[in-house]
Amino acid sequence: MDQAAGEARRGCLTKTPHLVLKEVLPAARCPSCWSSWVPSVFACRTAVSLTIMGDAGMESTVSPPEGTAQDSFLSMTDVFLISLITGLFTYWFFFRKKKEEIPDLPKIQTVSSPARDSSFIEKMKKTGRNIVVFYGSQTGTAEEFANRLSKDAHRYGLRGMAADPEEYDLSDLSRLSEIDKSLAVFCMATYGEGDPTDNAQDFYDWLQEADTDLSGLRFAVFGLGNKTYEHFNAMGKYVDKRLEELGAQRIFELGLGDDDGNLEEDFITWREQFWPAVCEHFGVEATGEESSIRQYELVVHTDVNMNKVYTGEMGRLKSYENQKPPFDAKNPFLAVVTENRKLNEGGERHLMHLELDISNSKIRYESGDHVAVYPANDASLVNQLGEILGTDLDTVMSLNNLDEESNKKHPFPCPTSYRTALTYYLDITNPPRTNVLYELAQYATDTGEQEQLRKMASSSAEGKALYLSWVVEARRNILAILQDMPSLRPPIDHLCELLPRLQARYYSIASSSKVHPNSIHICAVTVEYETKTGRLNKGVATNWLKDKVPNENGRNSLVPMYVRKSQFRLPFKPSTPVIMIGPGTGIAPFIGFIQERAWLKEQGKEVGETVLYYGCRREREDYLYRQELARFKQEGVLTQLNVAFSRDQAEKVYVQHLLKKNKEHVWKLVNDGNAHIYVCGDARNMARDVQNTFYEIVSEYGNMNQSQAVDYVKKLMTKGRYSLDVWS
Ligand code: NDP
Repeated sequence: MDQAAGEARRGCLTKTPHLVLKEVLPAARCPSCWSSWVPSVFACRTAVSLTIMGDAGMESTVSPPEGTAQDSFLSMTDVFLISLITGLFTYWFFFRKKKEEIPDLPKIQTVSSPARDSSFIEKMKKTGRNIVVFYGSQTGTAEEFANRLSKDAHRYGLRGMAADPEEYDLSDLSRLSEIDKSLAVFCMATYGEGDPTDNAQDFYDWLQEADTDLSGLRFAVFGLGNKTYEHFNAMGKYVDKRLEELGAQRIFELGLGDDDGNLEEDFITWREQFWPAVCEHFGVEATGEESSIRQYELVVHTDVNMNKVYTGEMGRLKSYENQKPPFDAKNPFLAVVTENRKLNEGGERHLMHLELDISNSKIRYESGDHVAVYPANDASLVNQLGEILGTDLDTVMSLNNLDEESNKKHPFPCPTSYRTALTYYLDITNPPRTNVLYELAQYATDTGEQEQLRKMASSSAEGKALYLSWVVEARRNILAILQDMPSLRPPIDHLCELLPRLQARYYSIASSSKVHPNSIHICAVTVEYETKTGRLNKGVATNWLKDKVPNENGRNSLVPMYVRKSQFRLPFKPSTPVIMIGPGTGIAPFIGFIQERAWLKEQGKEVGETVLYYGCRREREDYLYRQELARFKQEGVLTQLNVAFSRDQAEKVYVQHLLKKNKEHVWKLVNDGNAHIYVCGDARNMARDVQNTFYEIVSEYGNMNQSQAVDYVKKLMTKGRYSLDVWS
């Protein structure tokens, strides 16, 4: 996951997301049907068209020219017909689709436009920008920060531009000095265990191999990470170090944001020192107060063709009605929920097992991959927002970027209704960031409320403390803020411009594709807690999933999803032993692993020891997949089933205690048997405690001191023999 997700989400030691995109979006796909590689397209719609065109040709009155040998391989008619068919086909192939796609509405596009100039230098020159802020972003937070920095530039008489590194040729960095007072800023999030985000993968690859002289380049880096992960902020650190190695000039020190602490505060603290450093470097001054500048203009559509209005699609209009592979983040597949059952027998919580049907989707997955799910916000929250702001939520509108040069034409797919935007596109449940509070302050008619909002958005110590306690710790979302500040009533379109995008949620797939090629299973627990203000906050995705009842009232329950590849993989050789450690919902990927080992065994393969360490609160309450695990044990697939019931006795018993109990066997499997170790679940405490336990075991049985034991485990990680799929 994005280490700096800004909310609790899945994460893992996965390195291949970028490969996935490459796998599923091959350049050679048929541009009109997207159904397969080009050669097989000839066997689909194209074949139909050829037949029709061929028939038309037969009706033409061309007679065979004299002297044509009857036995020649191709007659002139054949040649003519082939030319005609080829010509018509070429026309059909290249031009027909374009005609179909001309929209009725003025210049409405999806979130990012595919056709673009890859030279950011030319674009900066053309639009008079000096500062480019690149973002490596998985969940949108780094992108938000980049937008904020690029907006800030205005105050200093400079002009900024936020840029997605995926859209530009980064080797142009060496030419940035052609622009006066130029600067490149990088807001780089780290994904999972030290990996680049998908959109920064090419930049990362380029940086690793580049030997370009970047001596004219001035730069600064702000990293977004999470300290609960082993490789905290690895991307930010790497970009900062590597740019310097290539000769670029750092004009301000690396910022390291920690989402486990207070990422927003880390960012504003860094930013408040960054701008003075920029001023000093370029000899410029702040031109005045931070001002509120709208980035999008509202267009209300009163007479609109409803077929052209987005209803929750992530990319292509009507993509949910007219599904076409390949399916990915911008084109999710609508999977039918075929099973949704409660897993726990007692306790307050709701732990669930869901099955999503992926038949006919061409989606492939492997055990250990993640399924990304696009949830919807709770309708009652959306309605309350509409009510409190006195808005007709069904108004159809577009928010159009005032900067015509921007690649991002709208903050979310437009035209759409406020209801759709607040339900499918915008994050309305997380505490808003300080820039949102700053912009909203202008709409508070009560001076006390306005002051409070401004203070919380300021970088003063008092302001930061107030933001932390009143917004972050009290988990006040936008609705709670509006409820607690009765004079604050912003126009809904400005609010929609300011709120971040609702992100997909990732779940470790709890099935094996060998056993379930047409379905993907999820194991999750509903998130629900009471805030300090006495409100009940509910996790968006898990509560939405909970209500996805199969075939409800004769209607299918649908989940927009796609698969994200991971490197959390079973060993190549089935005979290699595996030790799986996954308490709570961390059991998910191991259900897939065990299913796969059972299948391999059935195929007559020699399958090595398969050891599971699972933990739950109480045996009678939340022992997930109890029957399935017992069956696997009985069948001999699961060679050891170790379960730690933490609350069934006075003293806590956790998975690591059982590991210690079996330490000799664990050591033998790892050291002599080359076992692969897998850890899944909570990153903050469990994964760290388990890792420490391995240090102890290695130290004791390998006769090593602490640092040698740490090295030993690190080496296992590098070799892919100690893998993590953890979240916080
Ligand atoms: P549980 O809370 O059900 O915990 C599973 C078992 O792990 C319990 O027996 C628990 O014991 C035990 N445990 C607690 N601390 C440790 C530790 N340091 N080492 C080993 N075992 C420990 O698990 P869930 O699956 O519900 O959640 C796991 C974690 O992931 C939680 O921290 C949760 O906040 C987080 N999380 C989960 C999400 C999800 O969708 N499942 C989403 C985001 C975050 P006891 O509780 O008795 O101490």
